[in-house]
Amino acid sequence: MTIRVVHHIAELRAALAAQPAVGFVPTMGNLHQGHLDLVKIARPRSSVVVSSIFVNRLQFGPNEDFDRYPRTMEADVRALESAGCDLVFAPDERELYPVPQGYKVHPPIELADILEGHFRPGFFVGVATVVHKLFNIVQPQLAVFGQKDYQQLMIIRNMVAQMALPIEIIAGPTTRAGDGLALSSRNGYLSAQERAEAPQLFALLEHMAARVKAEGIAAVPAIEADALLAIAARGWKPDYLTIRRRADLQPPSATDEPLVALAAAKLGSTRLIDNLEI
Ligand code: AMP
Repeated sequence: MTIRVVHHIAELRAALAAQPAVGFVPTMGNLHQGHLDLVKIARPRSSVVVSSIFVNRLQFGPNEDFDRYPRTMEADVRALESAGCDLVFAPDERELYPVPQGYKVHPPIELADILEGHFRPGFFVGVATVVHKLFNIVQPQLAVFGQKDYQQLMIIRNMVAQMALPIEIIAGPTTRAGDGLALSSRNGYLSAQERAEAPQLFALLEHMAARVKAEGIAAVPAIEADALLAIAARGWKPDYLTIRRRADLQPPSATDEPLVALAAAKLGSTRLIDNLEI
């Protein structure tokens, strides 16, 4: 089946009407292997795999990179086709937001205003709103999200559970370059020198995880402080490097809790995020 690109909601609904198992991979385009790996997870579980490409203005802050976010539609469609995607939904802003989006999904602040949400106010309202809207448009049986965006995945899982949306959410593991750097559309902003430095973010998460295992959770404040100093000394501007409970992304309180190390830091003008389950 050759891939089909549709731009309108009505056209998409007509194309999906008879499909028993719609698998969905939402993206903002400028696709890399990480996105394609999510499509490959959806493929065997779906009668049709839909991927959306939409750079969602709602989730960008006023000083963020909405205008310069890379838009590479033709290459994206070819890549999606080779990964086994059947249908690309690529609405323009007038199609998705014909009037200003006054109705929004507000995830609970204890999850949405920490970590990414603290440094990017309104980000998760924008994400939850567009994902909820895309779910209503595509009406998938399953949707695949990357673990690379750990907090986003948790917020979407919780939204689906609390809103009783009949959608199975599947997590795709983070796809990395050979040197450990998590693939990201924003990696394209890095200079050659910054690209050589960028894997240090994941290396530091690995170091933090090893220290937590060796020293226990009492050492977490020291591990976090050391990591912030270490990355700043390399010229990064860190937002956070932290150890949290997987369950709710709050600081750990007991020794037997499953944990995750999460990081966000700016290298030059490029903000990178990553995480590692411990
Ligand atoms: P984006 O286009 O950045 O909004 O990402 C679309 C989807 O791809 C989200 O579910 C991301 O978590 C996922 N994603 C981004 N980078 C990676 C990666 N390196 N590995 C796996 N999934 C990813």
